[in-house]
Amino acid sequence: MTPEGQALLRQGAAELGLNVEAQLPQFEQLLDLLVDANSRVNLTALKTESDIVLKHFVDSLSCLRGGHLDGAGLRVLDIGTGAGFPTLPLAIVRPEVAFTPLDSIRKKIDFVRSAAEALNLTGVTPLVGRAETLGRDPEHRERYDRVVCRAVAALPILAELGLPLLKPGGLLVAQKGPISEEELHAGRRAAGEVGGGVTEVDAFTLPVLGDARTLVVIEKVGPTPKKYPRREGVPNAQPLF
Ligand code: SAM
Repeated sequence: MTPEGQALLRQGAAELGLNVEAQLPQFEQLLDLLVDANSRVNLTALKTESDIVLKHFVDSLSCLRGGHLDGAGLRVLDIGTGAGFPTLPLAIVRPEVAFTPLDSIRKKIDFVRSAAEALNLTGVTPLVGRAETLGRDPEHRERYDRVVCRAVAALPILAELGLPLLKPGGLLVAQKGPISEEELHAGRRAAGEVGGGVTEVDAFTLPVLGDARTLVVIEKVGPTPKKYPRREGVPNAQPLF
């Protein structure tokens, strides 16, 4: 990573209240791994160092706002992790948390697995699969303290995919761009249908770039009816609201 890239990472993290000095070597290694893998397989549209540092690394770290992912031993599922975001940056700064990054695309999870091994992120257990399938699997249903997701789907879809996987009292932390009142309203109704309630809507701007972001937190306040999640693809094709 160039000195400019390091400075962006330091500044972006500092604006989130984080000091990443000790983890800089891991972020540098992750950047190298991502750029190298991306030259062979299409993993991410972001190619430049500053884009990767700000829009992948710092952006992922912004999921820590509110402190919902702080706690040794927390089990966190990352639905639709793609090339490992937000899991990999989060696991670098929160090694005491157990992350399960999930994606339906094997080549993406192959990268996440090899990067986690190279960075010695022993708390990361990557998984190939669909959230709809996991949500009906007793080994995964109601087994997670937190579900995170970044840039995966509209809020009503995320509620249906995420809530079945949470333990009672668990939290879904959805990171999104600016969210419309319509989406938020539909998300609240969908959350109610699957046993959740929206507890927090945290609108903020991304460090350095100033892009609008929203962290929506949904708490699992009651049981999720057995009929959810519906079968693969249905939550997307026919959102609850
Ligand atoms: N979260 C990553 C990020 O922010 O860079 C990737 C975002 S990408 C736009 C969405 C990812 O979600 C894709 O890799 C896709 O395969 C995955 N995905 C979408 N729906 C899914 C589902 N139901 N189960 C598992 N993965 C899913």
